[in-house]
Amino acid sequence: MKQENYKKLIKQIPSNVTLVAVSKTQPVSSIRELYDVGHRDFGENKVQELLTKYSELPKDIRWHLIGHLQTNKVKYIVPFIYLIHSVDSEKLLSEINKQAQQINRVVDVLLQVHIAREETKFGLSSDEVMRLYKAQILQQYPFVRIRGLMGMATNTADEQLIHTEFSGLKKLFDQLSLHKIHPHSMDILSLGMSSDYVIAIEEGSTLVRIGSSIFGQRNYH
Ligand SMILES: *Cc1c(COP(=O)(O)O)cnc(C)c1O
Repeated sequence: MKQENYKKLIKQIPSNVTLVAVSKTQPVSSIRELYDVGHRDFGENKVQELLTKYSELPKDIRWHLIGHLQTNKVKYIVPFIYLIHSVDSEKLLSEINKQAQQINRVVDVLLQVHIAREETKFGLSSDEVMRLYKAQILQQYPFVRIRGLMGMATNTADEQLIHTEFSGLKKLFDQLSLHKIHPHSMDILSLGMSSDYVIAIEEGSTLVRIGSSIFGQRNYH
């Protein structure tokens, strides 16, 4: 069943768009089902759950941290995380740099930008992103490599609003792409979940984060 959902989805997603299967709250057995058909990119939003799954599953999985990250938890994921999507403060950037330096590893991250109407979603403002994405700032953090931006649209049935929010972030992404700050880059635009990934891809997403359309409804308990 999960494999069928997955295969259908893969056919709808252009080959230049990465699919991250969001496995939060799902058991290790469900992740294995997708792993067995060749999928390797999985997303989790809680550090403790990620650590448990990491320890139980094959080591060639590319783990994406997509949820809010507290500075005191950074050290646990820095040794193995493939991409942190949720950098929402310079303080967090600095802590990732510090922990990564201790193990001499460069960690790839995205800057999370607040684009939704809801107050509750984390993220930087466009102005804060533009302040951070500068050579003078980033040279202080040589063990972090910025790869792009992440955003979440308002949870709404208003498709026009979702289009507007995604296209606004795409514009910022394109604008920042003009500045080359080696080794940083703007090549990943992480936009779109089960409810809005079609719109996200139309607006230029290069990576979609999809949970319930693959695994079914989540069971929080
Ligand atoms: C849960 C989650 C998703 C996936 O949501 P679905 O609606 O299940 O596809 C994507 N991105 C983030 C940041 C999430 O927390």
